[in-house]
Amino acid sequence: MKHSDLLSIARDYGCPVYVYDAHKIESQYKRLTTAFSEVTSLKLLYAVKALSNLSVLKFLKRLGAGLDTVSIQEVNLGLHAGFDPRSIIFTPNGVSFGEIETVAGKGVQINIDNLSILEQFGNKHPEVPVCIRVNPHVMAGGNTNISVGHIDSKFGISIHQIPHILRIVKNTGMRINGVHMHTGSDILDVGVFLYASNILFETAMHFKDLEFIDFGSGFKVPYKEGDIETDIEEFGERLTTRFKTFCDEYGREITLAFEPGKFLVSEAGYFLTKVNAIKQTTSTVFAQVDSGFNHFIRPMFYGSQHQIINLSNPDGRERFYTVVGYICETDTFANNRKIKEIKDNDILAFKNAGAYCFTMASNYNSRLRPAEVLWYNGESHLIRERESFEDLVRNQIEVDFD
Ligand SMILES: *Cc1c(COP(=O)(O)O)cnc(C)c1O
Repeated sequence: MKHSDLLSIARDYGCPVYVYDAHKIESQYKRLTTAFSEVTSLKLLYAVKALSNLSVLKFLKRLGAGLDTVSIQEVNLGLHAGFDPRSIIFTPNGVSFGEIETVAGKGVQINIDNLSILEQFGNKHPEVPVCIRVNPHVMAGGNTNISVGHIDSKFGISIHQIPHILRIVKNTGMRINGVHMHTGSDILDVGVFLYASNILFETAMHFKDLEFIDFGSGFKVPYKEGDIETDIEEFGERLTTRFKTFCDEYGREITLAFEPGKFLVSEAGYFLTKVNAIKQTTSTVFAQVDSGFNHFIRPMFYGSQHQIINLSNPDGRERFYTVVGYICETDTFANNRKIKEIKDNDILAFKNAGAYCFTMASNYNSRLRPAEVLWYNGESHLIRERESFEDLVRNQIEVDFD
């Protein structure tokens, strides 16, 4: 997308606004399928929690994706967007048994990550095939917020508990049709991923009725200059070779699945804000924008560094700014960042705003959540209206004290 396109969207729809470039989603989707083009049966299950707008889901459906979901509401969004229930996997953690049963009743693939739930489910519904999520105990990145494969993680059934799984399967007569792992959002290199995949291949050999093996996600995309990025092409080549060997040993071909979220939508997204004021203190120049961590929490929550472009002054000279929001709470988006000179009312674009941005937005400070716009075929499409005051009071019931 050109910067002039972003500027006209800011003008037409107002700020703050989320913009998603459909063509970037498509090119990322094709990069992944191309990297695995030698695999006979490949399935990409888009992780809905990254960005769950119905139009984005429909666009991914058109590309051929299935869905990875973590709540019954995400399942219902997927069904509403027209997905076949059989192309949806449900990978919950800590949800009620009733929710799992209801989702299974819709014909969605169930993925279980808890021995006691597995046993209950197998006893009650031995005819419904399930996938199991294992924890391969691989540390994904340095940040414990996003490493979910390690020993204390609440996710997955430990690979050391495979004998328990096998006993439950035998006693209940249930069928395991898939094995799954998802080791976290920021695996740093292909080597670590391949190491973890070997553990999943070994696990898979214990189950004779598999239809698929699902490697979850963990593909890294660059946020700031110099960031490493998962080398998808190298990864595709190396895992394809390993997968083919596995299929030979297993005795037949099965489906290879991934659940990319961030990889597909992160770089497609831009968050556009307007500068309300420049505030010079004794030590810092603040640029205060018309948003806050209520709309865009990643910098505060994860320490993510999103690149910021001053769309209004692309040829200006660079100065240092601390970019902050307008809510009554520390909401720093960037500290002492070099940005083209900023004036009041300039439009700033935050990059990598497609994944885990709008879906984490809230109404804190009673602010309204932003609009969302999809850029497709050279045109902007409003795909979610900006909230209104009515949305804030909609479900409230006022007590009459008179
Ligand atoms: C969040 C999640 C994903 C997507 O992770 P990304 O880092 O966004 O690609 C995939 N699978 C499961 C089970 C998840 O919870």
